[in-house]
Amino acid sequence: MEKTKLNNHPHQTAWHNISAKEAIKLNDSDASQGLSQDSVKERQAKFGLNVLKQKKQQSLFITFLLQFHQPMIYILLGACVVTLFLQEWVEAAVIFGVVILNAIVGFIQEAKALNAMNALSKTLESESTVIREGIKQSIQSSQLVPGDIVELKSGDKVPADLRLTHVKNLQVNESSLTGESLPVEKNYDALDEDTALADRINMAYSGTLVTFGLGHGLVISTGENTEIGKIQQMIDNADILATPLTKKIKHFSHMVLWVILGLAAVTFIIGMFKGYDFEQMFLSTVALAVGMIPEGLPAVVTITLAIGVGRMAKQNAIIRKLPAVETLGSTTVICSDKTGTLTQNEMTVKNIFTHSQSYEVDGNGYSPEGKITNGGQETDGSQDNHLNEILMCGLLCNDSVLLKNETDDWAVEGDPTEGALLVSARKGLKDNKEIISKHERLDAIPFESDYQYMATLHRFDQEKNVAFIKGSSESLLPKCLKMTLPEEDVNKVLEKIEEYARLGMRVLVFTKKEFSAQTQEINHSDLDNLTFLGLQAMIDPPRPEAIEAVGICQKADVQVKMITGDHLTTAAAIADQLGIQNLQSPSQKPKAINGKDLEKVSPEEFDKTVAETSVFARVTPEQKLSLVKTLQKQGEIAAMTGDGVNDAPALRQADIGIAMGKGGTEVTKEASDIVLTDDKFSTIAKAVEEGRGVFDNLLKFIIWVIPTNLGEGLVIMLTILIGSQLPVLPIQILWINMTTAIFLGLTLAFERKEPSIMDRSPRRPDMPLIERKYIFRTIMVSLFILVGAFGMFEMKQLAGYSEEQARTIAVNIFVFVEMAYLFNCRSLKLSMFKLGAFSNGWLLVGVLAMAGLQVLLTHSPTMNFLFKTAPIELIDWAQIILYSALVYVVVEIEKLIRRMISK
Ligand code: ADP
Ligand code: MG
Repeated sequence: MEKTKLNNHPHQTAWHNISAKEAIKLNDSDASQGLSQDSVKERQAKFGLNVLKQKKQQSLFITFLLQFHQPMIYILLGACVVTLFLQEWVEAAVIFGVVILNAIVGFIQEAKALNAMNALSKTLESESTVIREGIKQSIQSSQLVPGDIVELKSGDKVPADLRLTHVKNLQVNESSLTGESLPVEKNYDALDEDTALADRINMAYSGTLVTFGLGHGLVISTGENTEIGKIQQMIDNADILATPLTKKIKHFSHMVLWVILGLAAVTFIIGMFKGYDFEQMFLSTVALAVGMIPEGLPAVVTITLAIGVGRMAKQNAIIRKLPAVETLGSTTVICSDKTGTLTQNEMTVKNIFTHSQSYEVDGNGYSPEGKITNGGQETDGSQDNHLNEILMCGLLCNDSVLLKNETDDWAVEGDPTEGALLVSARKGLKDNKEIISKHERLDAIPFESDYQYMATLHRFDQEKNVAFIKGSSESLLPKCLKMTLPEEDVNKVLEKIEEYARLGMRVLVFTKKEFSAQTQEINHSDLDNLTFLGLQAMIDPPRPEAIEAVGICQKADVQVKMITGDHLTTAAAIADQLGIQNLQSPSQKPKAINGKDLEKVSPEEFDKTVAETSVFARVTPEQKLSLVKTLQKQGEIAAMTGDGVNDAPALRQADIGIAMGKGGTEVTKEASDIVLTDDKFSTIAKAVEEGRGVFDNLLKFIIWVIPTNLGEGLVIMLTILIGSQLPVLPIQILWINMTTAIFLGLTLAFERKEPSIMDRSPRRPDMPLIERKYIFRTIMVSLFILVGAFGMFEMKQLAGYSEEQARTIAVNIFVFVEMAYLFNCRSLKLSMFKLGAFSNGWLLVGVLAMAGLQVLLTHSPTMNFLFKTAPIELIDWAQIILYSALVYVVVEIEKLIRRMISK
């Protein structure tokens, strides 16, 4: 009957107008129990998944047509039309064929790259907390149905349209829906029916972001029926594949185009004055234009980047924005969180301290086996009231769950810091379950890095309720002052904290406050005059692979800075254990500063302080942002990690914003360029390495491709100047450019990273794409092509070969020299044998395929007809191959000399 009820709902569009209770009733749900599994199934069948259908970004046909929207294609199409006028049918057909082929290749690779990016973004599906059958659980947001009761907390993305049923200081940023950038404070009382969408403060809309507080809401619509689903415009995906480099290349090819057109015009005029044949001149000009434009370049760049995206995904770094692949290679500073990224985030309480007593806790990891001892004497909560209270505070002021996982190991669901406190409570308190059920939780203030503490209110007895508060010493000790903790005791506590922190331990302060039995709610302002209970100190050792990765980064001239909410001394100790360097003098421990002290640094000193310091402790999100800005001002390319809601601005500002896939909030993922699916620092280091590899491969391709185009241009200009026949025809040039780019050049994208890739400094993004030494090399190879092709063409004709045969030999010179040079370009500095002659299988396959194609082009009658080629002799083949091998050797000698000079 539920279906009819939902369908005939009188207020279907005015949920804000009825009370929360009524809304829940009308949806046949229950505020504390949620839906049953059966009714979830039923509703899923009726309403479908909670996803926004990917609007077709562009019809495939338009995408295909756009492939023709390139200056180079205009030239080719123009050439095609003129050849038609000249009644060169075959020529026209081949040019047209190339245009179509180019469009198809471009179309396929673009579609593939887009698909890959989309598939990756799908792996980042968001999760929500719902209550179903009375149990709080985490599910994929796509599984939500109307009637579900969803829990919201700061950092969440609202997963569907919700009628709020309970809020606690809930603030939501609705800019994605309303454009309003300030967060809206939410409530749950019914509103007037005609309240505008932006003012419906008892609703939370899908896609908006929770920036503060807590809330519960009833799902009223999902997927396409949500407000965002209704207004969702076509996502502008046009530029998703554009990166700084592709833009640079686009700009560059436009420039080249005008230069070519100018040159073509000039040669055409010269030719006319010299009285050459008009048709001949025209063909030469077309050949010049098509020859000098690197047709394959844009496609290869996109494919290489896409391959990089795939490789990084395998290493657990999901690229959300393509330019990040490129920028990663230039990263000069990584600002990383400590807890969980550089450390294992598997916390174990080792020490407990009350006013008077110090306790040791033994045992490992999350296993609740272990004893608490006091001066060697085993003890527990039943014998020691101080110990009892501090452990109870840790147990009750806690949102995590300790459980055995599939492999029978103890694990924590939720915050590891809190998990550690459950473990210590198990070690020192007998009946954990009973304590929890006896002291029902009435209210909670969740942990937020801005406040650095968490508080919960519990029923105690007839007279009183008790609030337990735990958090950092800076946030809680001042609240204990005077009344409950005299000055001299504070100093004792502070000394103890320093003692633990120097060992790299994370120290939490535990407090309580009694309230009357009527108090049902607590707020930040109620939390003063707290009673100090004691400290618990936990270890969180560095990840071994993070130690290694820090070393690799620093060797590669990438600075590592630790940015943490934790205590200064703790952070500095962990930084030292990780091997983070002092940026001034490597023999000393890394320099560390507190957020408070950073605030006091004068503006003149600020830049210097930021540059010299490696550890920033207890920093606020605003300070993170100004840190990134300062580093960027100093010319650094900064990568920055973040997990909390307030980290989003800093992530957006950073050149590479890195979000945590496991422990991070949806808000940070939204703001990031990369998401780490394993939250590990070593993954960032690997991504930087991959980024360098991608850039290397792009550079190798560009350095490889230039001689083809330059060589072709030179050959034709020379032809026009001395007024001889063309050694290669326009269609043959098209053949060379298209086939070599795909079968030879593209295979460089599969080249593995060079072993020394992390031994050198990062590439400055403002550096010219091609360094001077490589310009020399490309000109040298271009000249080899010019001499080989032109020389053979003329010599063979003198030796009595037909024009077609001489041309075929010239074409083969082009292709085979490029083939030999491809082996040179496998590494710009090293010999390819250093890399392993067979380490790039695709390259060998490509070379064999290309050689096969050339044999076809030369000896197959159809190809002879289409491309005006002719069969040649074995001795010609031998000469072609020898000449190409000569080029390989000369380039290797040049590389060798450079290696020797730079030593
Ligand atoms: P980090 O950068 O190390 O992740 P956080 O911002 O998470 O730092 O934590 C800052 C401080 O807040 C910690 O040093 C600790 O004292 C306190 N803290 C951390 N987690 C909790 C928690 N769940 N409850 C109460 N206090 C916490
Ligand atoms: Mg944290």
